[in-house]
Amino acid sequence: MRLSKLFGKTLRQVPAEAETPSHQLLLRAGLIQQLAAGIYSYLPLGWQVLRKIEQIIREEMDAAGGQELFMPALHPVELWQASGRHQTMREVLFHLTDKRERPFVLGPTHEEIIVDLFKRHVQSYRDLPLMLYQIQTKFRDEARPRGGLIRVREFTMKDLYSFDTNWEGLDESCQKMIRAYQNTFDRCGVPTSLVEADSGAIGGKDSWEFMFFCDSGEDQALICSAGDYAANAEKAEFRKPPIPAEPPQPIEEVSTPGIKAIDELCAFLGIAPWQTLKAVFYAADGQPAFVAIRGDMEVNETKLRNTLGAVELRLMDDAELNQAGLVAGYASPIGLKSVRVVADDAVPSSPNLVGGANKPDAHLRNLNYGRDWTADIVTDIALAREGDLCPRCGSPLRLQRAIEMGHVFKLGTVYSDKLGATFLDRDGVAKPVVMGTYGIGTGRLLSAVVEANHDEQGIIWPPALAPYQTHLVALGMDRPDVVEACQRLYEELQSASGVGISVLYDDRDESPGVKFNDADLLGMPLRLTVSPRTLARQSVEVKRRTEKESALVLLSEAVIHIRKLLDQR
Ligand SMILES: [Zn+2]
Repeated sequence: MRLSKLFGKTLRQVPAEAETPSHQLLLRAGLIQQLAAGIYSYLPLGWQVLRKIEQIIREEMDAAGGQELFMPALHPVELWQASGRHQTMREVLFHLTDKRERPFVLGPTHEEIIVDLFKRHVQSYRDLPLMLYQIQTKFRDEARPRGGLIRVREFTMKDLYSFDTNWEGLDESCQKMIRAYQNTFDRCGVPTSLVEADSGAIGGKDSWEFMFFCDSGEDQALICSAGDYAANAEKAEFRKPPIPAEPPQPIEEVSTPGIKAIDELCAFLGIAPWQTLKAVFYAADGQPAFVAIRGDMEVNETKLRNTLGAVELRLMDDAELNQAGLVAGYASPIGLKSVRVVADDAVPSSPNLVGGANKPDAHLRNLNYGRDWTADIVTDIALAREGDLCPRCGSPLRLQRAIEMGHVFKLGTVYSDKLGATFLDRDGVAKPVVMGTYGIGTGRLLSAVVEANHDEQGIIWPPALAPYQTHLVALGMDRPDVVEACQRLYEELQSASGVGISVLYDDRDESPGVKFNDADLLGMPLRLTVSPRTLARQSVEVKRRTEKESALVLLSEAVIHIRKLLDQR
């Protein structure tokens, strides 16, 4: 490919809208172009890399026993109503209507559609286990698209679905996919770790994510410093510091004029945050919920949302609190009626806490769970933070930003039950099929590849993904001998015996500085430079993108030498 003809321009300046290194480099190298918020075109270089990524994924899915198929993006809404996700995913569903007023959604994922296919084609245990996958466009109306290809509204995903006769089979399918994912990310040059993940309200039983730890990621993981636990922050558990047991004391009202926040209360009364009971009010799908947690902890809204089975969860504002007869800053669980009460599981074992009196400028000392109040639900709703203790071994947890690269969900029979996907077992008895679902966003993987493989100057493509294996730089396009030598090398490389060597040929009339900067920015594994200086020695200068030193190689031996370098990797 001649760079003078390549569609897509490199940019000198860092685009203002791009914050992460990968987003900046994808734009600067001319790989992608934004059309609207969270909607991108892939330009030729970006598209080539994406197709290589897809090919690696395809090979690994096929090797694990997957069969590729292709499902539509346009889904009749009835399937989504039947699964209940018409409601639970309503925040991200794109809706449309055809000219006969029939409602459709644009698929954000395909569990409903694959189950429909399963029902039409599988009757017997003899057809199982089964793994089906596709690489296909998804649509999600994300509220805050960001990070270039990290969080987008239209994206390509590999989604695989496994069908087994029982849970042991699902375990095996799951292990196969975990290995296939590890291979995929290794081949793409992105280091990943497997962490426990949140399954969502109807996601299924267990789930894990492959995370690439990097500071520009928008997900967070908590990792045990001793190495035996890692989990998405949405899901992470921790050992809650116990409070010394002491006999319950009588309730006592104290005047706390103007004191609302926990830290003010602690300073005013001379107590520690763990001696207080914090009240937080949420609207869960419009219904108020009172949440009680010790003052030294924060609410994990994902855990709370799952506990309440809610889709939409938000803090109630002061006006709503007043309307419900509650006093902001002084709310108390005592005497609460017709409001669901959720307590964190550390609260019942924490005696004599200080909490609100449910009237202005007053708090209550010595609140005791069970004696003074009870909750409808007691469960873990606390957010794990940096320095909290590992649930397994008690070592400190470290907070790490990350990009979620892929997920592995054990769905079990959630969808089979809802949508009636059964098979006949050996005894002719109909049983629900046991499912798993496994996804990798290909554009996000492309971003992570760049995030994991770049330096100050630009991208450093892993050889397996480079759009071209070599970048040929001609210095002195006004010199016929340079043009002729470059043209010959360009042709010889591409027609090299065996599989040709791909070349991006910078034939533009630009300065050496511009050409070298672009070669570093575009990041092909080998840079080949032909100039009057190298021609004086019948040579081409060869340099790896990853190294500073270059070497002169005789033009007559160039193809063999370059092949050897590329094979060494
Ligand atoms: Zn640990």
